[in-house]
Amino acid sequence: MSGGDEKSPKEKAESMDKIAREIFKEAYPKIADKIINTTKIKSGKCIDAGCGPGMLGISLGKKTSLFIDLLDISEDSGEICTKNLKSENLTDKCRFVLGDVMQMPFEDNYADLVVSRGSIFFWENLGKAFSEILRVLKPGGVAFIGGGFGSAKIEEDIVKKMAKEYPEWRKSEKKGKKTTIKRRLKIVKALLEEEIPYESICDESGFWIILRKKNEIII
Ligand code: SAM
Repeated sequence: MSGGDEKSPKEKAESMDKIAREIFKEAYPKIADKIINTTKIKSGKCIDAGCGPGMLGISLGKKTSLFIDLLDISEDSGEICTKNLKSENLTDKCRFVLGDVMQMPFEDNYADLVVSRGSIFFWENLGKAFSEILRVLKPGGVAFIGGGFGSAKIEEDIVKKMAKEYPEWRKSEKKGKKTTIKRRLKIVKALLEEEIPYESICDESGFWIILRKKNEIII
């Protein structure tokens, strides 16, 4: 994210926090609006999977009455996320949960909404992660998962700032563009292999997969 694998996990989490709060900060409220407009879900339980410092969950927490579990596999991200939730006065409706998206510590049919930004590209087994997301979703629940910056203008500003402050990121971003299609195809392939029905959004806000858990008809 910030260029260089030589960083310790703690340094990586701190770097993501700084970038999220300073350079990516306009992206999260915009993505939160996109999620609300697309899913129409504003109450109930939400999981932000691979939350990092927690900015997407925090934006959703400010705009809705959702109770949000911010889940991440990194303890260092957890400490930072908890600190950010406290400074935003959101601890009554948001909490950090340590866990792997491929084996989430939630019961079946738990969440109304699962969101995730910028984490899917790190998931080792996409099929397992999608099945797990569908397991924890309530019937009628929706998942909104992918990556992006919310709008073309926000992305343009972010790319400019990152190029200036983190030249290494700019290089990996250019390289990343070349592999974007491959990464998206990998996601779609996993969905097809698992025979999971999905919708996708590919617009200026980013690339997002929408999963809907069917309502079970009980006779
Ligand atoms: N969603 C945040 C954001 O947009 O600011 C953070 C994005 S950061 C690029 C990716 C995050 O995904 C990291 O915090 C990482 O620890 C987390 N992550 C990666 N693999 C994961 C997994 N299998 N389960 C849970 N979190 C994971």
